[in-house]
Amino acid sequence: MIYVQFLCLIATACTLAWAALAGPMKIAPQASTRFAIANIAMMTGFILYTQRSNEISYFAWFVADMVMLLGFMLVRWGGQSLFKQSSTITNDCLLLLATALLMLLVPPQTTYAAYMVLLMSLVAAYIFAMVTRDNYHALNRGVNLHYSVVLSVPFALASILFLARGLGYLLWPDDMLLLAEQNSLDQPVLMWTYIVMLLTVNIVLLGNAVARLVYKIRQLANRDQLTGLWNRHALLTKLADVDAHWRRHQHVYSVLVIDLDHFKHINDQYGHQIGDEALKHFSTLLTNSLRKVDFICRYGGEEFLVILPSTPTQQAMLVADKLLTIINRAPFKTANTNLYLTASIGVATCRNDLNYDQTLNAADSAMFEAKQNGRNTIRCAA
Ligand code: GH3
Ligand code: MG
Ligand code: MG
Repeated sequence: MIYVQFLCLIATACTLAWAALAGPMKIAPQASTRFAIANIAMMTGFILYTQRSNEISYFAWFVADMVMLLGFMLVRWGGQSLFKQSSTITNDCLLLLATALLMLLVPPQTTYAAYMVLLMSLVAAYIFAMVTRDNYHALNRGVNLHYSVVLSVPFALASILFLARGLGYLLWPDDMLLLAEQNSLDQPVLMWTYIVMLLTVNIVLLGNAVARLVYKIRQLANRDQLTGLWNRHALLTKLADVDAHWRRHQHVYSVLVIDLDHFKHINDQYGHQIGDEALKHFSTLLTNSLRKVDFICRYGGEEFLVILPSTPTQQAMLVADKLLTIINRAPFKTANTNLYLTASIGVATCRNDLNYDQTLNAADSAMFEAKQNGRNTIRCAA
C-alpha cells in the first residue's frame, strides 16, 4: 500500500505544480494543463492496476490501460504544444480507439493477460518512441544537441522498457502470466519502476519547459522582433568572436553594411505596414541568398549588417554584387503593385591596424559613399 501512497503523492504534487504553471503563472498554459492531466491519468491507471485479480474487471484492465495510454499521449500532446509542433491528436485518438476495440475482444482478466499486456505495451512503446522523436527534434532545433539527447534518452528508455515487456509476454507467456497472477502490490520492482518512470517523466518535462523558456528569452534578447534576424545586441558578441577567431587562425572576415534606398518614400507612399512587410521580404531574401555561417543582423531601421566569415575582400565584393542583383530582381509584391527595392552596400575587410569597431565604421563609410554615388551600388572601404 505504501507504494500506492508514494506514487499518488508524487503524481499529486506534480499535478499541482503543472496546474500552478498553467494557471497563476501562465507559463505555457496549454502544455502545462496537458502535463497536469497526464499526471492524473497515469496516477488513476496505476491505482486501477493494483486492483487486478483473476476476476473479470473492466476497470482494472480495460479502463486502467486506456487511461494510462491516454496519460502517455497527453505527454506527447503537451510537448507538441510546448514546442509549437504540428499536432497529431487526431491520428493518436484513432490509435487509442483501435487499441480500445482490440482490447474489448477478450474478457478482461488474468487469463487473457498476455494478449492485453502485449497490446498495451506495444502501443505504449510506440507512444514513447514518438515522444522521443518529437522531443529530440524540438530541442535540437531550439536549444542544443547535448541537451536534446539528455532530455530524450529517458523517453527512449521508457519505450524500450515497454517493448521488452511486450516481447516478454510474446516469448515467454507462461512465465509472465505467473507474474501477472500475483498481486502487483507484492512486486516491488514493478512498483518502483512505475514510481521512477513517473518521476523521471515529470523531471524531463520540467527540463523541457525550462529549455523552452530559455529559448524564448534568448530570442527576445538577441533577435529582431520584426524580421527574426539577429539584432544589434547579438551582433557585438558575434563580431568579437569572429574577430578573435581571425586574429588566432588568420581566417579573414568581411562585413557588409546594407542600407535600403529611399525607404522613407515607401513608407510615405504605401504606409508603415507595407514598409514593415517590405523589410521582412528583404530579410528573407538575405537569409535565402547567404550561407548558413554568415551572420545577418538588422542593424537599424532599414539598415542591415552581414558578417561573412572566411571571406576576403574580393569574394565579399562578389557576394555584395550577387545580393544587389537578387534584390533588384525580386520585387516585393503588394496587392496593387510590385515594389522594386534597391540598396547601397558598403564592404570592409578586417585589417591588423583596425579593431572590429573601426572595421564596422569603415563599412559604414563605404555605404555612405555608395549613397553619394547615386545609390543601388557597392563601395569598398579603402
Ligand atoms: P536613403 O536612400 O538615403 O537611405 O533614404 P532612406 O529614406 O532610406 O533613409 P532615411 O534614413 O532618411 O530614412 C529611413 C526610413 O526608414 C525612415 C523610416 O520611415 C523607415 N524605417 C525605419 N525603420 C522602419 C521600420 O521598422 N518599419 C518601417 N515601415 N519603416 C522603417
Ligand atoms: Mg535608407
Ligand atoms: Mg538608413
